Amino acid sequence: MNLRKFTYLLLTLNFLFYSNARNNFYEKNRENSQNNFSFSFTTLSVNSVYNFSFPIRREQINPLLNNLQKENALLRMFSDCDNKIYHKRGFYYEKTAEEISKSINDRRNLERIITKYFYDELYTSFNHHNFLDDSKIWHDLLNGSGYFEDSYDYLRIRNGKWIEKHRAIDIFGKIGDFVYSPINGVVLDSKNDWKGRWDRKKGLIYEGGGFGILSGNGVLLFQPSDTTYFFIVHMKDVFVKPGDLVYKGKIIGSVGKTGNASSPYTKPHIHVSVKKPGIKCGIKGALVSINPYSNLLYARENLLKKEEKIYVDES
Ligand SMILES: [Zn+2]
Repeated sequence: MNLRKFTYLLLTLNFLFYSNARNNFYEKNRENSQNNFSFSFTTLSVNSVYNFSFPIRREQINPLLNNLQKENALLRMFSDCDNKIYHKRGFYYEKTAEEISKSINDRRNLERIITKYFYDELYTSFNHHNFLDDSKIWHDLLNGSGYFEDSYDYLRIRNGKWIEKHRAIDIFGKIGDFVYSPINGVVLDSKNDWKGRWDRKKGLIYEGGGFGILSGNGVLLFQPSDTTYFFIVHMKDVFVKPGDLVYKGKIIGSVGKTGNASSPYTKPHIHVSVKKPGIKCGIKGALVSINPYSNLLYARENLLKKEEKIYVDES
C-alpha cells in the first residue's frame, strides 16, 4: 500500500469513528428531547432549541440564559428548598413541594441543553486542548494564594433573628486577587453590577445590582460531566458572561468585598457554595449543598505537587 492510499484509509476510519460517536450522542439527546420538553418560565421553548438546528450554538443559548436571568429563575433553580420563611417560632419553605418538583424538572431540561451545548462547542472549538483535564480534581480557586478553613456548617445569625448554617467555604485573599475556574463547564449566570456601601450607623446600604443585597457580584457555574454547580460570590469584578465556556484554571474574576462582605468586620473573600442533585426536603432530584472543603484542599495540594514537578524539571 502506498502512502497516499494509507492516508486516505486513515482519514476514512477517522471520519467513520467520529461521525458514529457524534450520531450516537445526538440520538441519545433526541430520545431525551421527546420526553415532553418545555420550559414554562421562558418564552423560548426547549423544543424550538432542539428542532432549530444541530448542534446547539451560542446564539441559541444567549436568549435562553438571558430570559432566565431576567426572572431570576436560575438562582431560584439553584436553591430548591433552601429558602425558609420564619414565622413566629417555626418556619416553612418558600416554595411548595409542587413548585420544587417543577423547578427540578426545569433544571434537568436546562442541564440537558447546556450539556449538549458544552460538548457541541468543544467539538468545534480551537481551544479544546484547554479542556483535556477531565479528572475529578478541581483547579485551586485562588491558584494557591489566600487561605481557607473548614467553615462549612458554621452557625451565623441572619437579620439578628434566626440562626442559619453556613453551607459554603469562604476563601480569603486580597482585593483584586484573580479567581480561577475550578472546573470545565459553562457560565450559567454572572453579575458584575452590585452597588452598595457600608454606613457606620445604618450598616449595609444596598443600591441595587449583583445577585442581591447579600451575595454581591459573582458567578453560577455548571460542570456537565458530573452535574456540579458552583455559586461563587462577593467578587470585585467578574470577567465572564452567561454562556461562556470555562476550563480549569481560566481566570473568571477577582476577590472582593461585595454583598454582606462589605462590612468592615469582614476580610475580602469569596464565598464558594457547591451543589449536586440529591434528596432534600424529602424530594428526589433537588439540589443539595456539599461541603467542598476536602476537594478544595486536594486541589491546593495537587497544584503544589505540580509546581514541585516543574521545579524539579528545571533544575
Ligand atoms: Zn461565606
